[in-house]
Amino acid sequence: MLHLSRADLLINDAFIAGEWISLSNRFAIKNPSTGEVLAEVADCSRQHARHAIDAAAVAQKEWAARTGKERAEILRRWFDLLIVHADDLAAILTAEMGKPLPEAKGEVLYGANFIEWFAEEAKRVYGETIPGHQRDKRIMVIRQPVGVVGAITPWNFPNAMITRKAAPALAAGCAMVVKPAAETPLSALALAKLGQEAGLPSGLFSVLPATDSAGIGLEFSENPKMRKISFTGSTNVGRILMRQGADQIKKLSLELGGNAPFIVFDDADLDAAVEGAILSKFRNAGQTCVCTNRIYVQDAIYETFIERLAAAVDALPVGDGFAEGTAIGPLISDTALDKVCHHISDAESKGAKAIVGGDRHALGGTFFQPTVLRDVTADMVVAREETFGPLAPVFRFSTEEEVLTAANDTEFGLASYFYSRDLSRIWRMMERLEYGMVGVNTGLISTEVAPFGGIKQSGLGREGSRHGIEDYVELKYCCLSV
Ligand code: ADP
Repeated sequence: MLHLSRADLLINDAFIAGEWISLSNRFAIKNPSTGEVLAEVADCSRQHARHAIDAAAVAQKEWAARTGKERAEILRRWFDLLIVHADDLAAILTAEMGKPLPEAKGEVLYGANFIEWFAEEAKRVYGETIPGHQRDKRIMVIRQPVGVVGAITPWNFPNAMITRKAAPALAAGCAMVVKPAAETPLSALALAKLGQEAGLPSGLFSVLPATDSAGIGLEFSENPKMRKISFTGSTNVGRILMRQGADQIKKLSLELGGNAPFIVFDDADLDAAVEGAILSKFRNAGQTCVCTNRIYVQDAIYETFIERLAAAVDALPVGDGFAEGTAIGPLISDTALDKVCHHISDAESKGAKAIVGGDRHALGGTFFQPTVLRDVTADMVVAREETFGPLAPVFRFSTEEEVLTAANDTEFGLASYFYSRDLSRIWRMMERLEYGMVGVNTGLISTEVAPFGGIKQSGLGREGSRHGIEDYVELKYCCLSV
């Protein structure tokens, strides 16, 4: 049983057009650690999505007509409520997703920060004037909200992936219809409840739990009132949404998969590099899109680094997310577990060796031992595919040129990391890594004040920072003849 100070934040209705709707079609939300059923949640259909979009289109007009300050005040109240109820939100998150409770609390605060940031930015959606191209011409550019936006979000950050989209969208004057991951709708519904209490107008922000993600995705793509889709998830589904949106030239923000390299040069501070590798690889049991996927270590320090990494990984406590001291919770599903097993067996069959872990955990279920593989090479599946689990594969390299080529040899371009103390090398690497984000001597880069996003097949658009709001506004150029 989940103990909450506010039991009414555990919700099993859908939130559509400002109403809490109970449906006879329901689906079970299970705690991935225990298998316990937490709730039987309303299962929305494509028709519900249509209804939500209709209401959003009406609410958006009135919302956009308000001043930035008026929108900011409501967003700020939403932020305050998320902070007040952070412990309950974290408990709901750990229960439905499995991550350790302190990490869940961290996500709730991180998620809330986006609302605070964009509440502030709501007042600064500035236009510009441009000197005319002819003597009698005056040019103005104004920024206007895109309109109704659909958000499709994943299970690995059930709270923050929603606030990161909703905050800039609402700040800019857009409305939003959210389809959370079927595994984790409870955090989304709790967010909606607090948004309603903060004063978000009826219909402006709907949350539709659903198992028919393809059906809802089609409605988002085909409904002309839906002006944009903001999606975080797999590259494959990103491609589907892009294809589906082609007919209406649907605007898209996409945060897709990654294949993050983590490079340790022989001039690095090794203790810091080990600490960074643990943070960037094992956070959320390796289930984040910016998680390190490939660790490259230079020859001279390979053995020392591996030894220290192995000791640190061996010390990571695996367990239920609510248990004191847990660092690694369960994986989200059997499919996720199978992928980790596949990456390990493929690598081992080609010569890699597990020096820590390598197998399912004695706790059973979807628990997996945090693992370090050594002697990993480019021909192994783990070099190309995102593992999304607690597996650290360690490659060896000799030269900067060689590791740069290996690091960039992927269709993905989300996060990358490297450790070095040579200033010239730091500049060269920052400029030449083909990634949207580069962590230099750090394994943690996510914050609401910086633009998060990828290049190549990792996505389109940026979330966070002053750039984040650009994804939700259109430029309108007005030419005045005087
Ligand atoms: P993951 O592997 O992390 O579950 P997905 O891309 O499958 O990544 O899921 C991310 C989100 O996309 C989830 O909310 C999921 O329900 C949704 N989704 C999955 N398939 C589709 C689809 N065909 N159209 C729209 N959304 C989808």
